[in-house]
Amino acid sequence: MPALSERIKSEAKRLGFSLAGITTPDPPEHFGFYLDWLARGFHGEMGYLASEAARTRRSDPRRILPDCESILVLAFPYDAAIFENSPPGTPRGKIASYAWGLDYHEIIRSRLEALVGFIETEIGAPVPNRYYTDTGPVLERDFAQRAGLGWIGKNTCLINPGQGSYFFLAEILLGCKLVPDPAFRTDHCGTCTRCIDACPTDCILPDRTLDAARCISYLTIELKGPVPEPLRAQIGEWVFGCDICQQVCPWNIRFAPERGEPGLESDPSFGQPALIDALALDAGAFNRKFKGRPVKRAKRRGYLRSVAIALGNTRSPDAVPALGKALLEDPEPLVRGHAAWALGRIGGPPAAAALKTAARNEMDPAVMAEINAAQSRLEGSGAQDQRSSDQP
Ligand code: SF4
Ligand code: SF4
Repeated sequence: MPALSERIKSEAKRLGFSLAGITTPDPPEHFGFYLDWLARGFHGEMGYLASEAARTRRSDPRRILPDCESILVLAFPYDAAIFENSPPGTPRGKIASYAWGLDYHEIIRSRLEALVGFIETEIGAPVPNRYYTDTGPVLERDFAQRAGLGWIGKNTCLINPGQGSYFFLAEILLGCKLVPDPAFRTDHCGTCTRCIDACPTDCILPDRTLDAARCISYLTIELKGPVPEPLRAQIGEWVFGCDICQQVCPWNIRFAPERGEPGLESDPSFGQPALIDALALDAGAFNRKFKGRPVKRAKRRGYLRSVAIALGNTRSPDAVPALGKALLEDPEPLVRGHAAWALGRIGGPPAAAALKTAARNEMDPAVMAEINAAQSRLEGSGAQDQRSSDQP
């Protein structure tokens, strides 16, 4: 009969985890790196990552579970989405692969619960435990590397040589002694810089640091207010998250399985939303559409803000009527302000007319500032066009 550690890892695989490894409860090796990342302000507005409590708990797993003797680290795969080109006249946005299905938290939590149940049955007694998937105060990639699951790539994802990086990490802190796996000590990025070169906002720094405050995932999900103007054009058509640094990674191109775990199947109708329809979602329609789905996290105002940016970036005149309507009628100043920006980016007489109409009615100073900025940009580009046409 295999040893307990092996039986637990086999059960984890049976429950749908594609990778399972065990490590010791020692403090994470990258803790100093994390403090430095915070000191450089790369966490943006994610204050929950920087609080004293968050730092203390991340410094040592025994701060979370004093009896911790082992950490079981797991990977749960999701589908690698295949994006199709938008049909003409119906601009579509892009949602990161992991969010094409149902909310993973509940699905993974139930499997973790089942795994804890298995461990307690095997041991024949209750075992102190804490489990997390993406929500806990732990440096999970550090533990994953130490448990032998893979290396932390230049794109800062945990990469497994046989599976790539399209998976969620989860971990169970356990008050029982298990046999640790050898750490993953090699780095397989080599001289590759594809993710750094492809990142639209240049937020992957050469020292394996991610300036999260510039990352499209942060800008479209975590950031609650306006997106800094210089970054809007770089967001492209992403409306929730971004997959680019995973899509270009050769380890995903060669080894990532196309399909993730059943239960997290992706639904293509969610992955590439029709942007003009999306901009018309009222609160009730948004809640119904995204109930139990990751996009709910952005809330309606954040999602429609990103939809407006994406519509602007399509430069499609077909988007002007919808943006003009949102600018006049949307209850959220955040959405109206980004609709104004998008109209300025698309340009042309209908967009200019929509901005002019809104300028007569708008009462919110922040939205008014966006309208003025959009109009100035249009006037600037008009003058430039005039100069170009005056050239002999
Ligand atoms: Fe850059 Fe997108 Fe990767 Fe963020 S998710 S680091 S924006 S490529
Ligand atoms: Fe490493 Fe290249 Fe993958 Fe970036 S794209 S994580 S550099 S292998």
